[in-house]
Amino acid sequence: MSTASLVTTKAGTKLNAKTASTPPAKASARKAHAPKVGFVSLGCPKALVDSERIITRLRSEGYEVAGDYKGADVVVVNTCGFLDSAKQESLDAIGEAIAENGRVIVTGCMGVEEARIRGVHPDVLAVTGPHQYEQVVSAVHDAVPPLHDPYVDLVPPEGLHLTPRHYAYLKISEGCNNRCSFCIIPSLRGDLVSRPANQVMAEAERLVKAGVKEILVISQDTSAYGLDIKYAESAWKGEPLKARFLDLTRALGDLGAWVRLHYVYPYPHVDDVIPLMAEGKILPYLDIPFQHASPAVLKAMRRPAHQEKTAARIAAWRKVCPDLALRSTFIVGFPGETEEDFQMLLDWLKEARINRAGCFKYEAVEGATANSLPGAVPEEVKEERWHRFMAAQQKVSAALLKERIGRTIPVLIDEVDDEGSIGRSQWDAPEIDGSVYLNGETALKPGDIVSVRVTESDETDLWAEVA
Ligand code: SF4
Repeated sequence: MSTASLVTTKAGTKLNAKTASTPPAKASARKAHAPKVGFVSLGCPKALVDSERIITRLRSEGYEVAGDYKGADVVVVNTCGFLDSAKQESLDAIGEAIAENGRVIVTGCMGVEEARIRGVHPDVLAVTGPHQYEQVVSAVHDAVPPLHDPYVDLVPPEGLHLTPRHYAYLKISEGCNNRCSFCIIPSLRGDLVSRPANQVMAEAERLVKAGVKEILVISQDTSAYGLDIKYAESAWKGEPLKARFLDLTRALGDLGAWVRLHYVYPYPHVDDVIPLMAEGKILPYLDIPFQHASPAVLKAMRRPAHQEKTAARIAAWRKVCPDLALRSTFIVGFPGETEEDFQMLLDWLKEARINRAGCFKYEAVEGATANSLPGAVPEEVKEERWHRFMAAQQKVSAALLKERIGRTIPVLIDEVDDEGSIGRSQWDAPEIDGSVYLNGETALKPGDIVSVRVTESDETDLWAEVA
């Protein structure tokens, strides 16, 4: 049985050098080729546990732990940032690893001071903060790719997805801080928990490298991203990246794929992403579940941002980005909704020119606070309002689609059969919006992006020919 120890630095006893045993069978099979990682672990027991966790993950991927600097393909230095003396010790340990090996990844508490580390040691390969296991492991992968493992490699690097290869959903947070009266999601999933920005970016980059052409950003409340973690910075490609709606959206836009934003609430800071749409960095598309337009109903629903003057906001957005498409969902027959409220919704729909809308007849959900609201709307009234809503929406949608005729636009192909291809424009999300039909185009492939000229429209779809 071979024993591989962590790198012991010249600082010797100052470090938590420990041994990690390598299971014999796998070790002998891989010994000649397995990539080796040196590990220097500084600081408290919590940091040591972090190191153990990273080593465990790397071992499970076939990496071996190097016993000295010379035998390591890359060295991870897990730093301490508690006191100035600990920071200096961390900088010294990084310097020693660079001098002895040259290929160094820094993680741990001092990782939050990336600029300071890079100021002293500009050659470090990557800097990640405490508890950023995924980022450290991914930095090791970048520095020394893992061995091919026929079992592990059955799972592609971007993970397994239930969507077609060319688009994927990217979840940026879980839970919700709002308490809409008709919804029980916060009681099921808890308050907002945002993922660190670099973790989201690493996943998005893996998806794009695997051939994904369109990233659909989702969460319960996308524009609230980062609020719970105070917009914490994390290191992405050597630069700090804030966990903030605008910053993340901009970084995603740099990956070169289509980026579509879902479940955005019209908080004031949403205005800031509209110029990114006008520049073509992200798709000119916002999915905002408005649910209603009457202030009384929105208040009873306890909707976030319900006080915003949304029709005026939308008009201002379209001044900046005339191509902006809006998708939304609405509820008719909410308790207390009067005919005036409903009429206000229809008028607003026409004024705001909502491109795509889904409409639900209100239903009580067990456990929702709206169940105790007075003014239940009779089922037949809900039904009648639903039909009026859909008729009004179809008119708006048909008029907006008609304006596309004659334009040359990019289309992402979803399906191809022997009659032609079906794709989507930048204004259409998969499954919920419309399609662009390219009759007779049988030589295309799903995932192709082609330039087409729009020739026809109805209230849902477009028809076009390759330009
Ligand atoms: S409807 Fe959406 S915003 Fe409102 S509580 Fe539910 S998940 Fe949160």
